[in-house]
Order: sequence, then C-alpha cells, then structure tokens
Amino acid sequence: MTNPNYSEREQELLRAVHNQELVLYYQPQFNVATSTFEGIEALIRWRHPERGLLTPDQFIPFAEQSDLIIHIGEWALSQACKQFKIWQGKGLSPVRVAVNVSGRQFLQQNFVEVVFGILAEVKLDPACLELEISENTIIREDDRTLIEMIQRLNKAGILIALDDFGTGHSSVNYLQHIPVNRIKIDKLYIKNIHSNDADVTVVKSLIKLAQDMNLQVVAEGVETLIQLQTLLSQECQEIQGYYFSQPLPAEKVEQFLLEFHIIDKK
Ligand code: C2E
Ligand code: CA
Ligand code: CA
Repeated sequence: MTNPNYSEREQELLRAVHNQELVLYYQPQFNVATSTFEGIEALIRWRHPERGLLTPDQFIPFAEQSDLIIHIGEWALSQACKQFKIWQGKGLSPVRVAVNVSGRQFLQQNFVEVVFGILAEVKLDPACLELEISENTIIREDDRTLIEMIQRLNKAGILIALDDFGTGHSSVNYLQHIPVNRIKIDKLYIKNIHSNDADVTVVKSLIKLAQDMNLQVVAEGVETLIQLQTLLSQECQEIQGYYFSQPLPAEKVEQFLLEFHIIDKK
C-alpha cells in the first residue's frame, strides 16, 4: 500500500482510501415543478481517526495536486452509484445521483471507460448518474479531448452539470461546444440575493441564459425562505441548500426521504 513516490501526507490519504475512512454525505436537490427531491449530490468527507470529520476543502485541493484524486474520484463514483442502487432497490425515488468530478480525472485517458465500467458493474442506468464539472475546469482544459470525453459520457445518457456557474469566464461561448444539461448557480450569488441588487441581476441573467439554451438551473447554497422566494420568482427550477437539508450520511438520507414521503409507489 505504501508508494515510495508519495509524500507522507499523500501516503496518509492513500491509506484513508484503503482503510475506508472516506465517506460520502448526500444533499437532496428539490425540484420546484414536481415538489420532490429529484436529485441528490454526493459530497465527500474524511473520517480522520485523530482529527475528526474533515470537509473536502481540507484534503481535495491537496489530492488534486497528484493522481491521488484519481483514486479518490473513482472510489466516490463507485460508492455513490452503489448507494444509489440500494436506494432504488428500497423504492426511495430520487431520479439521479450527482458526483463531483475533478478536472484532473479528465486527464486520465480511460476516464470514460472507468465511468462506463462502474455503471456496468453496479448495473445502474446511465440516466441515473450526473457528473458535476466545475466551470473553471471546462474553461481551463479547453481542449478537444475533454470535449470529446464529455460528449461520449453525455451520449451514453449521463447528465452533465456545470458546477460553480458564474464564477468562471465572462464568455460562455464554450456552452455551444460542450453538451451540458444543467447549470448550478454558485452559492456566492445566492448568499446575498435577498439584499444585493447586483446579485439578483446576475442570478436573473444566468437563469435567463439557461432558459434560452434549454438548460435546467439548480441554485446551490439556499439557506433561507427569502432566498428561496427570490429564486422562485425568477423561475429557478431546482434548489439545493441548508434550507431543505444539510449534506447527510446515507442512513439519514433514507430517513429524510421517508419523512418527505418520497417513496416509489410502483
Ligand atoms: P461544491 O460542489 O460547490 O459543493 C457545494 C458545497 O456547498 C458543499 O460543500 C456543500 O456542503 C455546501 N453547501 C450546501 N448547501 C449549503 C448552504 O445552504 N450554505 C452553505 N454555506 N453551503 C452549502 P462541501 O461538502 O464542503 O464541498 C466543498 C467542495 O468540495 C465541493 O463544492 C466540491 O467542489 C468538492 N467536492 C466534494 N466532494 C467531492 C468529490 O467527491 N470529488 C471532488 N473532486 N470534489 C468534491
Ligand atoms: Ca458540486
Ligand atoms: Ca458549487
């Protein structure tokens, strides 16, 4: 398990993967039109034996500096698909699970095959999987290979969401070349949406842009009723944030979905 090419800190993180110290939390996404929690985003945590529960900002940027993020990314993808399959089997009915993908994973030549392999192993319909890719990745890795990879994933039925939307470039020309199904408005713009006119203007124009391009819009970081109301008045379609639920461990998600009576009646 030890790899001489890794630093001590990297070894620790690699051990964490093998020792099952990494865990996924899940945050439900509320669909306004159907009044159900249609999606669920997997968010990684590290149950560190000494330091307690660590959030991704405490280890993901570090993991992204090496191919450790590839191990972690694969683990997260596989774990999220397996968990979703379990929920499906229990008749809990979110329609998809969203997994965050780092730009570095797309540098892996066989990334698309890895994703297809996991779906086949878990026997999960590709339409149940959404990959969240940061807008900054798309802009930075402005190359044919990345675009072709995303096209292949999308063609297979996997949904593509553009994360942190609005924090990247001023130009959105890339949207014409990359198949994207959904955009996620960054929580930066949601934070003061009830009090800051400039933020309202940005959010309004992002929603309008998405509508014109036939993309679904998800607002993240929604904490208060007034933020929710402002977004509803702008016809935002999906809402994610503490207002509905914090990211929860898998067993608490079940409880949450049951309390909201989201059970597949088929
Ligand atoms: P993100 O994808 O933009 O995820 C949204 C972050 O906002 C999450 O932080 C979530 O817990 C937090 N959040 C959700 N609702 C609210 C709210 O109402 N208010 C506020 N203030 N925050 C809210 P988290 O879980 O700490 O994740 C941070 C970032 O780490 C994520 O940002 C994502 O970029 C990255 N990340 C998480 N899991 C993974 C993973 O499996 N792989 C990769 N590559 N990155 C991951
Ligand atoms: Ca995300
Ligand atoms: Ca985000």
